[in-house]
Amino acid sequence: MRVEPRVTEIATATTADEAPGTIVCGSCARELPGDSPYCPYCCGEDGRRGASGRGAFLGGLFGVLAGGLITAVWSSAVGPEQTAWRSVLAIIGGCVTVGVIVGVIRSRKG
Ligand SMILES: [Zn+2]
Repeated sequence: MRVEPRVTEIATATTADEAPGTIVCGSCARELPGDSPYCPYCCGEDGRRGASGRGAFLGGLFGVLAGGLITAVWSSAVGPEQTAWRSVLAIIGGCVTVGVIVGVIRSRKG
């Protein structure tokens, strides 16, 4: 999932009946001035910090899901009594950390 401010390309397809000079963000569906290189709501004022934060958020969310899934599988394999909470937290924490890092890197490349 790439997080890219591709508002300008979407403009011609989605704003046929909108006022001229107005485009709609493909991510949040807000109307923006036609000359906006990116969506300030999704990407922040500088268009980069917000994208990184959004990538980090998505990465962290993915990390939570992945960590929870791994923990669930592991817990069912070894039995709930053998599931140490310190290990569970370590697994989820590790997945979240990796997810955030990957998310930030991906958003910066995009
Ligand atoms: Zn937006």
